[in-house]
Amino acid sequence: MKILVAVKRVVDHNVRIRVRSDSSGVETDNVRMSMNPFDKHAVEAAVQLAEAGKADEIVIVSIGPKQANDVILTALAMGAHRGVLIETNERVETLAVAKLLKAVADEEKPDLILLGKQAVDDDSNHVGQMLAGLLGWPQATFASEIKAGEGGLEVTREVDYGRATIALPLPAIVTADLRLNTPRNAALPMVMKARQKPLAVRPVAEFGIDISPRLVIDKVSPPAERPGGRQVADTAELAAFIAGEVKELEAL
Ligand SMILES: Cc1cc2nc3c(=O)[nH]c(=O)nc-3n(C[C@H](O)[C@H](O)[C@H](O)COP(=O)(O)OP(=O)(O)OC[C@H]3O[C@@H](n4cnc5c(N)ncnc54)[C@H](O)[C@@H]3O)c2cc1C
Repeated sequence: MKILVAVKRVVDHNVRIRVRSDSSGVETDNVRMSMNPFDKHAVEAAVQLAEAGKADEIVIVSIGPKQANDVILTALAMGAHRGVLIETNERVETLAVAKLLKAVADEEKPDLILLGKQAVDDDSNHVGQMLAGLLGWPQATFASEIKAGEGGLEVTREVDYGRATIALPLPAIVTADLRLNTPRNAALPMVMKARQKPLAVRPVAEFGIDISPRLVIDKVSPPAERPGGRQVADTAELAAFIAGEVKELEAL
């Protein structure tokens, strides 16, 4: 089985997000960036399938500026075989990302495409679903377990009412949730080895896909400051405080 994994470079999840002074978006200049956490689970799932003898090639694809090479290298160090960077400095909306990934899928002909369930910068939760629609492939989103069998997959999904297990034929799209696995930290020798693995950098224009944004972002604002907490001596004081708050709300 050949697996394509989409990975996105986003602001590192440990960084405190700052909104640009002109309210046009989130500040990314001089900010630590790393692989979207859900994509790490997708890469780990692919590597585990390869280790179990179920996959023989893992191709990583990212769309972004040349610095997105870093997240591809991380995936290669985790065990993927080669990478493709579709280079652009432009804002790329979800539909354009899905169209570009479809173009790569048409060329690479993978049996399985793994993605994160969402990217933590925009929290759109679009790309996997749009890609499945564009390709006409079955999809399993929010995967917490993937079992590969003869010609198909059994995927367990975390849903409101618990866990649902579905069977889907290949080729298919699967988007990774947090409990799918524990992504490995690549050891230094793997990081060194990753630099020798093939990584093709292709300008976005090569694909002939219109990536011009369709959405206008009016304004991005930081969340409202939360008022500080206060300590209470005991549950009686807590109960009296809550009763007071409720009374105030009722009066509104
Ligand atoms: C280089 C770059 C710069 C950008 N700059 C800005 C900006 O300054 N201001 C702004 O408003 N918007 C910007 N965008 C657009 C925005 O970040 C998103 O591309 C868009 O809104 C999609 O949302 P999402 O990634 O949350 O999609 P989701 O549907 O939440 O993503 C789901 C999954 O799709 C895959 N995926 C998504 N994007 C990519 C990708 N680029 N490469 C590979 N796999 C991917 C990943 O597996 C991800 O986990 C930029 C995008 C890029 C690529």
